[in-house]
Amino acid sequence: MDIIIKNGKIVDGTGNPWYFGDIGIKNDKISLIKKNIEKECEHLINAHGKIVCPGFIDAHTHSDLAAITNKAASNYLTQGVTTNVIGNCGWSAAPLNPNTVGDLLSLIAPDINTDLTKLWQSFGDFLDFLEKTRFTINLVPLLGHGTLRIAVMGLDKGKPNNTEMDKMKELVKNGMESGAFGISAGLEYMPGIFTKPKELIELCKMVAIYDGVFSIHIRDEGNLGGEAVDEAIYIAQNANVSLQISHLKLDGKNNWGKAEQRLEQLEKARENGIDVTTDVYPYTFCMTNLHALLPDWLFQKGLENVKMAMKDQKNRSKLKKYYKNGTSMLAPSTLEDWDNVILTNATNMRYKNKSIYQISKENQIDILDALHEVIISEGLAILVVLKGMNEDDVQTIAKHPLSMVGSDGGVSKEEDRKIHPRYYGTYPRYLKKFVLENKILRLEDAIRKMTSFPANKFGIKDRGLLKEGFYADINIFDPKMIKDNATLQEPNKFSEGIEYVIINGKIVLNGGKIKRKYPGRVLRK
Ligand SMILES: [Zn+2]
Repeated sequence: MDIIIKNGKIVDGTGNPWYFGDIGIKNDKISLIKKNIEKECEHLINAHGKIVCPGFIDAHTHSDLAAITNKAASNYLTQGVTTNVIGNCGWSAAPLNPNTVGDLLSLIAPDINTDLTKLWQSFGDFLDFLEKTRFTINLVPLLGHGTLRIAVMGLDKGKPNNTEMDKMKELVKNGMESGAFGISAGLEYMPGIFTKPKELIELCKMVAIYDGVFSIHIRDEGNLGGEAVDEAIYIAQNANVSLQISHLKLDGKNNWGKAEQRLEQLEKARENGIDVTTDVYPYTFCMTNLHALLPDWLFQKGLENVKMAMKDQKNRSKLKKYYKNGTSMLAPSTLEDWDNVILTNATNMRYKNKSIYQISKENQIDILDALHEVIISEGLAILVVLKGMNEDDVQTIAKHPLSMVGSDGGVSKEEDRKIHPRYYGTYPRYLKKFVLENKILRLEDAIRKMTSFPANKFGIKDRGLLKEGFYADINIFDPKMIKDNATLQEPNKFSEGIEYVIINGKIVLNGGKIKRKYPGRVLRK
């Protein structure tokens, strides 16, 4: 045997209570689980008194391109995460069309100036490219609706015509056949905001043929959140597809306390035979690109013209109306909301860590002028913090049986500070806060939400449980030592307490220290 883990408390990922046992690993698989394995082995790990559980499967990440550039994935190893579902919120790194790839990158990765279309174009090419790259964690790819819509019709606001619809369906078919686990959509972002349910139903029908998942960032996470959840359910029902509602939240103060209501919508849909589940991260604030706070008509003449367009008086009054009628933190409607839009990443020290409201007050200018100045100084892609949620709602969602865990993060370079702390802290924070401190979940249930539940939802084979014949993706830790250290001010501080992480039978975290081995795999459905 290669590795034997002795004397641990096995939490196997099913939600069942822990039991004592030893685990034997041969090559990349768990070969034996029983009491007292007495065999020769290369590595003996004494897990006395510690929890031994499956590696965590992060149901919601954006590691698509980062997996190539930040292959160490240290921010995830220190959380015990061994697998990332990628391609979320409508964004995947493929398929690409050389004629429209500029539109895509201007929205999601404005810093990239290599011609990606020379490296891959189809979804299958992208997965092949990934496969040739060495990285640490396993990747579970989803196909992004935003990406494939841009490949077919750029940033066109209209409905796809029949030819365009056929092309999109063909791209979904190709993607699913090359191994995608499903499709994602982001209806709060371009081009998702232009997309009607009918278009998604057509595409999801194709996904359903391959037994894939439809993962959706819903159209509104604020005042119209109820309608947005209904829309997602409507699409899933008509396409007969398995539905995942991403990062469920109640955004904006007037929606606080409505978590039960949202969850009841999911329960009711399930009673009607729709397989809907959701994921959540344990923070009360989110982070997004500044341009997500601008209405789509401001983009009509392209991103570069936004700065100019904001000076136009007619646009000004339109903008005022737009924000006055805002329904979520993406269109802040009150001064209090604008005070919760915070520029933690501003390069200009006059703006850094200040809210848009603060900037307007300090400079005695109105909100739109403050916003305009920030765009001129920091660009449209700068990430802003939106403090819009309430802890009770987050916990109500977290403890509900239909929710799993998803960080909405991505593999990160250690020096990267322009990120949300969820990239470094989601899993330890969830365990520490919800299991140990607030005791709203049993350890075994929390671990199920991080392992077999996402594996089952996305159809990830032979992972998510500690079981003979399953892949050896394993964590060892003492729950009392688990701690997240990442904060808004220091988002790139590693979590503590995970002692060992094994991926595909290779020890990648040993006594809390990162071993630079790259056993990660691209998983295909
Ligand atoms: Zn999202």
